[in-house]
Amino acid sequence: MSGQVEVQVEGQVEPQDRRPSLAVWKFASCDGCQLTLLNCEEELLALATRVDIAYFPEATRAVVEGPYDLSLVEGSVTTPHDAERILEVRRQSRRLVTIGACATAGGIQALRNFADVAEFTAAVYAHPDYIRTLSTSTPISAHVKVDFELRGCPIDRGQLLEVLAAALQNRKPRISAESVCVECKRRGNPCVLVADGTPCLGPVTHAGCGALCPSYRRGCYGCFGPADTTNASSLSGRLVDLGMPGRDVVRVFRTFNAAAPPFATESTRQEAGP
Ligand code: SF4
Ligand code: SF4
Repeated sequence: MSGQVEVQVEGQVEPQDRRPSLAVWKFASCDGCQLTLLNCEEELLALATRVDIAYFPEATRAVVEGPYDLSLVEGSVTTPHDAERILEVRRQSRRLVTIGACATAGGIQALRNFADVAEFTAAVYAHPDYIRTLSTSTPISAHVKVDFELRGCPIDRGQLLEVLAAALQNRKPRISAESVCVECKRRGNPCVLVADGTPCLGPVTHAGCGALCPSYRRGCYGCFGPADTTNASSLSGRLVDLGMPGRDVVRVFRTFNAAAPPFATESTRQEAGP
């Protein structure tokens, strides 16, 4: 996307010489991924000279009407209203990028997908009958076409800037599809799984954090969700060999990306038992 390109939304041709417009939307989420954008600080000022920040309630009350050239969507769909609103966001967006584990995999709130949501609302709210919620938390891609998914809980600042730069240059983002193990080896870290017997999800987790936890001799928690090719059942076998009870193996896969298919399949398999 560039200020010089022809921008077409819903068959409408926009003026050629203008800054592309950016909209940032929130669904069910903690706002942490939007904060990653605000935390860009120096780059944010440069970005503001290249794009028109048209809709970003977390940052400003000023609203420019759509359609928008690029929409960043944070959060998952958890209510009937969300399910309708995302359709309208898609209609208003030339390019739609989802940011974070909530938007790309349903987030921590997708733990409801494995339980009875009525039990949860009864435990939390004095009047659960006032709550209108869905029985599942689903990623944005389950509802509308998504042009790119940026993983992480929260997303990585450098990867977000790459996504924005790619949109401005009308190209695909250069985001590695490797596992955390590759990042870990590149940093020269000793493997905590091999050397210390510490459970680590690095072999099945998408790169993006720079192997942050293993760099501090902690196992990977899987914040960036499943890597493109995973062998979660093999890793489970190793965790069990290390002495981890099956119940805890289930929990390992049910964190930030519990509903991401490879993690959900493996946790469900472990829950069913041998
Ligand atoms: S992915 Fe994590 S940091 Fe981002 S909005 Fe969801 S819970 Fe917050
Ligand atoms: S510490 Fe974890 S991420 Fe690093 S190489 Fe070992 S298993 Fe992979």
